[in-house]
Amino acid sequence: MYINNKSNSIEDIINKAKLDLYDLITILSAESDEDLELLRLKAYNTMLDYIGNKVYMRGLIEFSNICTLDCYYCGIRKSNNKNERYILSKEEIIETAKWIASKNYASLVLQSGERQDEQFISFLVDVINTIKEETKTDKLPDGLGITLSVGEQTLENYHRLYNAGAHRYLLRIESSNSKLFAKLHPENQSYISRIEALKNIKKSGMQLGTGVMIGFPGQTVEDLANDIIFFKEIDADMIGMGPYIVHNDTPMNIYLEQNKKDMLKIYNLALKMIAATRIFLKDVNIASTTALQAINYFGREEGLRFGANIIMPQTTPIEYRKEYQLYEGKPCLDDIAEECAICVQNRIQSIGRPIGYNEWGDSRHFLKR
Ligand code: SF4
Repeated sequence: MYINNKSNSIEDIINKAKLDLYDLITILSAESDEDLELLRLKAYNTMLDYIGNKVYMRGLIEFSNICTLDCYYCGIRKSNNKNERYILSKEEIIETAKWIASKNYASLVLQSGERQDEQFISFLVDVINTIKEETKTDKLPDGLGITLSVGEQTLENYHRLYNAGAHRYLLRIESSNSKLFAKLHPENQSYISRIEALKNIKKSGMQLGTGVMIGFPGQTVEDLANDIIFFKEIDADMIGMGPYIVHNDTPMNIYLEQNKKDMLKIYNLALKMIAATRIFLKDVNIASTTALQAINYFGREEGLRFGANIIMPQTTPIEYRKEYQLYEGKPCLDDIAEECAICVQNRIQSIGRPIGYNEWGDSRHFLKR
């Protein structure tokens, strides 16, 4: 049971050498503008001290919305029959990867629903091999850096994907509280299996990315504080977190009205999570996710101001984007990739941050290991 230690101000807490669970809870409970600004500044300065001020780009290719699973919160869950299912051809993915390299982004993220069948894995291995070959340039002698986000796989398949050339992997735990995890997923998706998959990603040699959903029903600030401690315990290299936004065509649409009412609170909580994670973990990569922009037009810039250093511009071919909506109101659906590139560049420069063009921008935490 959390007992708020009122005797400690936010200023005292953020300047402690080592934060504990109760400190994190107090940070995440901060509400005044003054406290939020203190928190933001501490996170920003921690970022400058440990990883510098550059923002690194990962062109996002949502290459398939086919999923074998049914997470209760997700707009592309297999039971949602309103989506037209697609998988990009190898040629479409390679063409997009080349475009990403031509924009000097240096890295891409290949994201899809979860499939574990051999046809899918061998397709992915082939695509990764080809991307590595076809995106080598003088500026990028090893080709694009590749991050995967394709769900739970076996250790053997993580090895195959790593050997093909993918060197980062994102798999969100969604909640480190096993009871809450169980409320978000059907019975055939277990918390134990998710933890095992996270450990296997590390074993494979890839940089490990994870993260949580922020502000879903039943979650407390204590849960979120524990999530940050979980990131440390699992020794994550990269963090991607987003505010929970209800998708209409999911079983969790019963929370739609409440979610709308709580949206500003959830948005602020997401920014506090970025800041608290930066202060606690220091040298990891943290993404400023598009879901922040779904709530506030300047949400992604705010994420960067609160200590994030990664942006994932939308590069999925435009005709497929409407079919890949994990949550309602996803931005950038109609912007052509060229417009997204200019928009994202302007957004980052508007807050005075340089962009790490032609740099992979790998997690310093991983490189130090
Ligand atoms: S969150 Fe991922 S695994 Fe779950 S239903 Fe959506 S795409 Fe599938």
